[in-house]
Amino acid sequence: MTYIKRNILNIKKEIYETCNKIGRKPDDIQLIAVTKTVDSERINEAIMQGITDIGENRVQEIMKKYDDVSNVGWHLIGHLQTNKVKYIIDKVKMIHSLDRINLAEEINKRAKQHNRIMDVLVQVNVANEETKFGLDCSEVYEFLERMQPLEYIQVKGLMTIAPYEENPEDVRKYFKTLKAMFEEIKVKKLPRVEMKYLSMGMTNDFKVAIEEGSNMIRVGTGIFGSRNYNK
Ligand SMILES: *Cc1c(COP(=O)(O)O)cnc(C)c1O
Repeated sequence: MTYIKRNILNIKKEIYETCNKIGRKPDDIQLIAVTKTVDSERINEAIMQGITDIGENRVQEIMKKYDDVSNVGWHLIGHLQTNKVKYIIDKVKMIHSLDRINLAEEINKRAKQHNRIMDVLVQVNVANEETKFGLDCSEVYEFLERMQPLEYIQVKGLMTIAPYEENPEDVRKYFKTLKAMFEEIKVKKLPRVEMKYLSMGMTNDFKVAIEEGSNMIRVGTGIFGSRNYNK
């Protein structure tokens, strides 16, 4: 068995066990394999082992690998520059990192040109970290309101990147906060806002994230091993 196959089985087992513990259905958790720095060959192997969705954080990497990787849904999970939207608008299934209105306007414009609706998640910087992108919790409602005229964007949920803590228990509070906001927005039934996906949890903290209500986890290292940024 290859290490990729073994790692995927392992992650799936951990999803299963975590769900069992708290009475959630494992099938409700979408696993996104994060493939930044991972070459097409290894991505294709993961797809052969049942991975259906992959996450990249750089537009350039999507462009580079796009033709060599098929039968998979691409998710843009990293910071997106407005001038790069045009390159990925016809390639990605979902953008997880919507965090400002001019980006939303550009996505809307490009989606319209391609006659498609783009699914997005609003990125929230729950822990208020200086170094991270995303809206403050207090800005989310106003942001959703300002997006209402943008007919080619469908908000599908919220995303966050928790601070890295050796002990994932230390970030539980942030997941709790975002889940509460997710539920609060859901009942408001805003136009073109459907709170379906809560994208939170990475290799180090996905179990805690699932316990707190995540239904979309983004796992890189846990599947492909540690990343080599020098290649
Ligand atoms: C790299 C990355 C991940 C995956 O991180 P791992 O710790 O390797 O699982 C998840 N989400 C985002 C936004 C990332 O950039």
